Amino acid sequence: MRDEKKEGILGHRPAEVHTTNHTRTKGRRVRTWLLAVLILAIYTWSLNRSNIFFQETESEPICPQEAPWQPSSKQNIPAPPSKEILAKLLSGAVQVNTTGFDDSPPVSADPGRWDAIFSPFRKYLYSAFPEVHFSPSITLERVNEHGLLYTWQGSQKDLKPIIFTAHQDVVPVDPDTLNRWDYGAFSGHIDLEKGLIYGRGASDDKASLIMLLASVTELLKAGFKPSRTIVLAFGFDEESSGTEGAPYLNKRLEELYGSHKDGKGAYMLIDEGNSVDSDMHGISVAEPAVAEKGYLDVKLSVHTPGGHSSVPPKHTSIGYLSKIISHIEDNPHKIEVKIQEDNKGGDSPALQSLLCIRDAPQLRKTGLGIALSKFAAARKHLEKVKAKSSCMKSYRIQRAAKKLQVTKKLLEKELSTSQHGVEFTTTQAVDIVYGGVKINALPEEATVLINHRIDANLDVQYVRDHLKHLVSQVANEYGLGVKAWQSEDEFVHSVKNDQFAKSHFIELQDAFHSALEPAPLTPLQGKDASPYRLLSSVIRHTYANEAKGKEGLRVVPSLMGGNTDTKSYWNLTQHLFRFAPGTLTPLPKGVRYDAGIHTVNEIVQIDSLSDGFRFYTAMMLAAQEDM
Ligand SMILES: [Zn+2]
Repeated sequence: MRDEKKEGILGHRPAEVHTTNHTRTKGRRVRTWLLAVLILAIYTWSLNRSNIFFQETESEPICPQEAPWQPSSKQNIPAPPSKEILAKLLSGAVQVNTTGFDDSPPVSADPGRWDAIFSPFRKYLYSAFPEVHFSPSITLERVNEHGLLYTWQGSQKDLKPIIFTAHQDVVPVDPDTLNRWDYGAFSGHIDLEKGLIYGRGASDDKASLIMLLASVTELLKAGFKPSRTIVLAFGFDEESSGTEGAPYLNKRLEELYGSHKDGKGAYMLIDEGNSVDSDMHGISVAEPAVAEKGYLDVKLSVHTPGGHSSVPPKHTSIGYLSKIISHIEDNPHKIEVKIQEDNKGGDSPALQSLLCIRDAPQLRKTGLGIALSKFAAARKHLEKVKAKSSCMKSYRIQRAAKKLQVTKKLLEKELSTSQHGVEFTTTQAVDIVYGGVKINALPEEATVLINHRIDANLDVQYVRDHLKHLVSQVANEYGLGVKAWQSEDEFVHSVKNDQFAKSHFIELQDAFHSALEPAPLTPLQGKDASPYRLLSSVIRHTYANEAKGKEGLRVVPSLMGGNTDTKSYWNLTQHLFRFAPGTLTPLPKGVRYDAGIHTVNEIVQIDSLSDGFRFYTAMMLAAQEDM
């Protein structure tokens, strides 16, 4: 018994103990689990809270759009002439060779040379558009001989004019490439089946010029009478120096209409530029450019005493120059996203355009798309925190601003490997190099020419300083002198050996008088932006039937990497747009549009002509309503 009891006790107790222990352990485990779940829940909540601005909500439109423009009941829009007629009009213009050359003297110095090129073109315009050229409502003034200034006077003189510009000249055709053209470079060949016109200038920029005149022709025929003056201004050296055409036209236009700086000038100006794209990461967009990068060509020379090649120094001018070029290329300008924290001042157009398409099917799931989304959400969060009153407001703002910085860095990292990166930086291209004349003589001078396209947020001086800084680093390493931008007091002697540096030095200067600051930004927000809104609505009207999906075409402001004639019109109006109304019709198989610009097989799609016609016509009509 005892034993049994004992046993029993013993036998029972352990069981009892076991049960009690089991219950306690189980209870402890449950508590631990509960605690863990609680901690996890708190952690997840706090994580979500801190990450809340990394997730975008679908509620707000990514890129709000204007409603497509609608003509008033009194306005009727003339239909485009047939494709055959439009194609013939352009083909005729392409057949008149208006090649400009970089070495052209001013018109006043050699009038005959210019006359030989542009008189035949003017004659063609007279014959192709008799309604415009012989209309009593329209005057044609020749500015600096070959600049063409058409004025269709509006009935209300207090309305600022709307100006459309285009250029008559084309880039040269390299004679060595003539046999690579599918059709003659100036044949203006029409392929109705493929819907293409071939020839130099077909796209850049005669399509716009011809469609502008076609639009005016049809509006005249329809009996339209403008209340707002319509001006067409055609320069003739956009592809070369750009000093003979647009600057003179601008001077005349300022005489007539004043400058926006005095509250006068033009209502808006539309020049050639970016176009429409039926497949920008999977969506249809139009990208009127509202800003232009700056520009700078730099000549960098290394000077050394020279001598006989049998007794060379360790480095010749060419050797030093190669080291400098390597150093410059190894230290490119950084990609930088400039933050407008509250998004009130307006982002750079490059950032706006990317933010505007961040939900595009082929972009949103990529690293760049995700980075854009995070950036947008982080900024939205910062805005919210700033707007809300809370007890720890300044701390919260600080935290939100920090998060925005983190997303900015992420975005910059993604941009550095993206095709879009170039829009967020200053580019540098080492394009020309020369030095040395004889195999047994040391070169006294070696030179490189570097082309820069300057970030819209920076300026020319910044680029000069950047180069000077890099060059000085190499100079210090080798004891060379530096002479930057011709100013004597900027001559920096090497710290190591002044005598050596006087005869071995690097010289930096602007080349071709090309320095150009980035263009002023066209207003995109607030009541100042009514011209942009009007342009957007007319673009959406033009492509309403062509664009896929119920959303239609998305209008996205963009940045031009290159420069147009608009650089001459900064005083005339703040509302400068660079937009070439192309088509959303896909190209025939095997044809690449980009391939033709400024090189062999320049083409334009005939559908672009109808769309161009419809855009310009609607724009001329729409500008009448917007007072
Ligand atoms: Zn052009």
